[in-house]
Amino acid sequence: DGVIWLDGELVPWRDAKVHVLTHTLHYGMGVFEGVRAYHTESHGTAIFRLQEHTDRWCRSAHIMRMDMPYGKDILNEAQKLVVRENNLEEAYLRPMAFLGSEGMGLRADKLKTHVMVAAWEWPSYMSPEAREQGIKIRTSSYTRHHVNISMCKAKANGNYINSMLALREAIECGCEEALLLDNEGYVAEGSGENFFMVRDGIIYTPELTSCLDGITRNTIFQLAAEAGYTIKEKRITRDEVYVADEAFFTGTAAEVLPIREHDGRVIGAGRRGPITTVLQGMYFDAVKGVGNK
Ligand code: PLP
Repeated sequence: DGVIWLDGELVPWRDAKVHVLTHTLHYGMGVFEGVRAYHTESHGTAIFRLQEHTDRWCRSAHIMRMDMPYGKDILNEAQKLVVRENNLEEAYLRPMAFLGSEGMGLRADKLKTHVMVAAWEWPSYMSPEAREQGIKIRTSSYTRHHVNISMCKAKANGNYINSMLALREAIECGCEEALLLDNEGYVAEGSGENFFMVRDGIIYTPELTSCLDGITRNTIFQLAAEAGYTIKEKRITRDEVYVADEAFFTGTAAEVLPIREHDGRVIGAGRRGPITTVLQGMYFDAVKGVGNK
C-alpha cells in the first residue's frame, strides 16, 4: 500500500519497479539520502533538516557526475508529498537518484538519471535500552578504503559495501555496531554513523577526510555550542577511544547513540555519560521542536 514518488509522479508502491538492466544495479553508481520526519502534538509532522539533506543529495550527484533532473524545490516538495500522501506521522524517507536501463557499459553517457522518494514508518533504529545504556562496538577489519575517502562527501550507493560487511562482522562478534578505521588506522566512522568521544570535558570527532559530512554531526556541533561545550575535530586512534570518558555515534537513523564498550574495553563508567546525556536530550528536543521546520 501507499505511494512512491518516481520521476515526477506518485505511483502505487507495488508499481514502483526498475528493470533488471538498471545500470545502478550493476555498477553501483547512484546517490541517496536517509531522512526522517518527526511528529509532535504542538508542531505536527515535519521533516528534520530537509533542506540540508536535499543539498547533500545534490552535492553527492554532482560529485558522481550525475545530472539531477529536478531542482531543489521539486526535490523538497517530493519528500513532503510522499510523507503527506502516505498519511505518515513519523517516517523514514529514502530519496535516491539512479541510472536507468537505457544502456550498459561504464561510459554511461546515454543514461537517464531517475529519481525516487519512498517513505515508511520506522519508529526507532535501536531499542530504548540501547539509547539509554549504550551499545557494544568493535573495530572493523574493513576500512573506509580509498574510494570512500575521496568520495566521502557523497552518500553513494557503492560506498556501502564495506559498511554492510563491517556491520555483519560486528554483529557476528556479539556487538551492535562497527567502528571503521581509515587507511592510515585512524578512527573514521560507524557503518552508518559519525563518531564522537569525550575526554576531560572536551568533545572530539574525526575530521571530514574519512567520514560522511553527517547532518546529525552538524546538529551536534550546533547543540554543543549552545550548551557551552568545546568540540575539536582531530585524528583519533583506537587506543584513545579505549580510554575515553564517553563515546557516542550520531546519524539520522541512530540519532544520538551512546557507546559503552569498544573492543572489549569498558568506556568510562560503562553507560551513557553525562555530556552524551545532555546532547541526546537536546537532539530529541531539536528533532521534535520549533527548529524542525
Ligand atoms: N556516516 C555514514 C557512512 C552514513 O551512512 C551516515 C548516515 O546517513 C552517517 C555517517 C550519518 O549522517 P547523517 O547524520 O546525515 O544521517
